[in-house]
Amino acid sequence: MYDGLTGLYTFACPVRGEVRLPLSAFRVLERLPGASHPAVFKVTFSCACGNEHEGLVAHDDLDWAPLAGSETAFLNLMTSKLEAAADELLELAAAHIRAGEWPWSFFCYPEERPRPVFPSSFRALAAGGERLGLAVECPSCSRTSVNLVTHRHVDVPFYNDAKVDVVEHIFPGDRQTTVEAFRAQLDSGAFDARRRDLAA
Ligand SMILES: [Zn+2]
Ligand SMILES: [Zn+2]
Repeated sequence: MYDGLTGLYTFACPVRGEVRLPLSAFRVLERLPGASHPAVFKVTFSCACGNEHEGLVAHDDLDWAPLAGSETAFLNLMTSKLEAAADELLELAAAHIRAGEWPWSFFCYPEERPRPVFPSSFRALAAGGERLGLAVECPSCSRTSVNLVTHRHVDVPFYNDAKVDVVEHIFPGDRQTTVEAFRAQLDSGAFDARRRDLAA
C-alpha cells in the first residue's frame, strides 16, 4: 500500500489499473466505523486519469509507514551486512518526536496555536496552484481548521512550512458538513486566509 522508497501510496484505478500517489493527492479521508485493529480509512483520491476514486488505507499505513521509510534492506557499511532500515528509521522518528519535532503540524484556528498532528486527522485536501487547502480535525479540541500549505508540508514527514495561511472560519461541528462546506468554499475561491507562524 505505502512504498517507503518513493513515498507513494498504491491504489486501484478502473482506467489505468494501478496508480501510485503521494498523500497530497488524497481529497477526503473518512474513518470507517467498526474496524479498529487497525482502524481503516476510506480515502477519496485525485487520480492521474483525471477522476476521483475511493480506496482503503489502514491507520498504520497512514500515520506510521511514512516514518518507517523503505521496507527494502540496505547495506550497513559498519557491519557489511544487509539490514532492514524500517526499525532504525522508526527509532529515529521517535527520537525526533521526543525532542519536540513533529512529522506533521498545522495551525489550529479556534485555539490560535500550532499543533502536532498525524495524517489520520486530515479530513479533506483541495488542490490549489502551488499550495493545497488542508482541513484538519484538531486532535486536541476536535474542531476543524483549514491551512493553505505546500505539497511538501503534506508529503514529507518532518518537513513543516515555517508559515502557513490560516482560513479564518469556524467550520460547523459535524464532519460531513465540514468536508462539504470546505470543498464548496474552496471551489468558490471565497477563503479569507491570514498568515501565521507554524515554527515554534
Ligand atoms: Zn483513475
Ligand atoms: Zn485545536
